[in-house]
Amino acid sequence: MNAAAEALRWDLSDLYASTDDPGIARDTNAALAEAEALAARHRGKVATLDAPSLADLLRAFEALLARAYRPSAYASLLFSANTSDPAGQALLDQAREALAHVSTTVKFLDVELKTAPDAIFDAWASAPALAGYRHFLRATRRYAPHTLSEAEENLATLKSLSGAAAWNQLYDETVSAIRVPLTVEGEARDLTVDEARALRGSPDRDLRARATRAIHQAHAGQSHVLNFVFNTLFQDHKIELGLRRYESPIAPTLLDDELTPAIAESLMATTEKNYCLAQEYYRLKARALDLPDFASHDLLAPLPGGDRTIPFDEARTLVLDSFRAFSPRIAEIAERHFDRRWIDVMPRQNKRGGAFCAAWLPDLHPYVLTNYNERFQDVSTVAHELGHAVHFVLAGERQTLLNYGPTTPMAETASVFGEIVLARRLLEQERDPAARRSLLAQRIEDIIATVYRQVMYTRWEQEAHARRAEGVVTVEGFGALWRAQTERLYGDAVKLGELDHWGFIGIPHFIHSRFYCYSYAYGQLLVLALYRRYLEEGEAFVPRYLELLAGGGSGTPEELLRGVGIDLHAPGFWQLGFDTLRDLVDQFRATVS
Ligand SMILES: [Zn+2]
Repeated sequence: MNAAAEALRWDLSDLYASTDDPGIARDTNAALAEAEALAARHRGKVATLDAPSLADLLRAFEALLARAYRPSAYASLLFSANTSDPAGQALLDQAREALAHVSTTVKFLDVELKTAPDAIFDAWASAPALAGYRHFLRATRRYAPHTLSEAEENLATLKSLSGAAAWNQLYDETVSAIRVPLTVEGEARDLTVDEARALRGSPDRDLRARATRAIHQAHAGQSHVLNFVFNTLFQDHKIELGLRRYESPIAPTLLDDELTPAIAESLMATTEKNYCLAQEYYRLKARALDLPDFASHDLLAPLPGGDRTIPFDEARTLVLDSFRAFSPRIAEIAERHFDRRWIDVMPRQNKRGGAFCAAWLPDLHPYVLTNYNERFQDVSTVAHELGHAVHFVLAGERQTLLNYGPTTPMAETASVFGEIVLARRLLEQERDPAARRSLLAQRIEDIIATVYRQVMYTRWEQEAHARRAEGVVTVEGFGALWRAQTERLYGDAVKLGELDHWGFIGIPHFIHSRFYCYSYAYGQLLVLALYRRYLEEGEAFVPRYLELLAGGGSGTPEELLRGVGIDLHAPGFWQLGFDTLRDLVDQFRATVS
């Protein structure tokens, strides 16, 4: 391998030298021994500990987890870099097993923190000795009011195998068996749903229209089974809500995300108030494409000029320069990932697909994997993953293990921010008018997809669950709700097709990760609003932003943001994000004569 190619591959020696490194077994055994010692000393007695002793216990817990994570971190990185290496596979298997063993051994801690009497728990939560663990303690405890007895929980888990889990699987099997018959370039083909979906981005309008119709028809063919799955799982959720005393169908998701219903509602209502902006954009897009009318099958039509290739060296410079213009500190952290080979850049055989940033421990730097393919989207992915890396590095400098990882709704803050900073740079630099317009369109459509569509999905989900609570819903019933929400989003700017009401049925989130869609909207909109603050406040915003990232997972999203002067409840907060979008739409308008 030549030096240039080598420089773009991971160097994992900060973890272990090789799969034979004796350090792997040493760490694994030490972690197990420490876990067993901890259990021998404290199991069944956690509630008797005073605050300083519990703090000691939590520190020991963090130390043994840190040891336990290293071998599995190493194994999973090795495996990602070469999924067909038997040594890596064997190590991964071993490491997973060891980690599972450690987790089971220390499981008592989680259980006893959850079930300690209220008076004891409250004393811990307010004790100065545990101040650093306050969020961890509260977060562990938050499900307590919704937890059933141990016997009931065990029964529920067992019964879910033939219940919800089985219905999920039936949905997957049914959907993945769907084939979409379509004539492409004169040839009759039987496409997978993903292949057919990709054709909705074709420059050929007739093909886009036929692909869209064929996808709906193919799903309609399975609607008898799929609608039954929807009805069953929605009913299952209703039963669960009652047993676990949740207030609304979305409540468990909000609890996961540590957000309040008021915040979610204000986010969604503000988005709906700004649907007109999406409509305005599509009217402009119709003009840019020179279409007499704009239909739902034109939503993903490409604008010319978006196909420039970007060699990796240029991408690296683009990302680092854009980060540097925002904050030299952020650029310096990102640059370290290239210089010290903490990033594995290029696609190759047997390397895992996609991209990720993996981080385990505050005192171990993150590792980034990408499959760089010279498209604009790939540059954006590099900025995204390095944004994650910066987040972890800054949090690692300030937090201990239990406060390190950002909570779910904050997890995409730095990554999306990185993308925005990069997009701004690209737009400033791009001289070719067609390429610039295409960049703007990609940016705007990305926001529409992650904010508007997700809010629309969530509204549908709320209505669909409410309707199901009153009784069985026909597929036409769900479809009519879908059509109404789609019409609300697109207004008269987009003409819906006669089969568009089938749109809901192929969206797996409604089945697998209920109400998760709103988390995408939250993440993107939060970052757009933060970015707006930066544009308004300039340099003064940067140290506050770094402070926010350094907070890691040490508080709820509300607490972390309040710490840097941002109030999610402030009227007009979510509107800031749409002001950013408004600017982009105005710039796009200027390119459409
Ligand atoms: Zn991400």
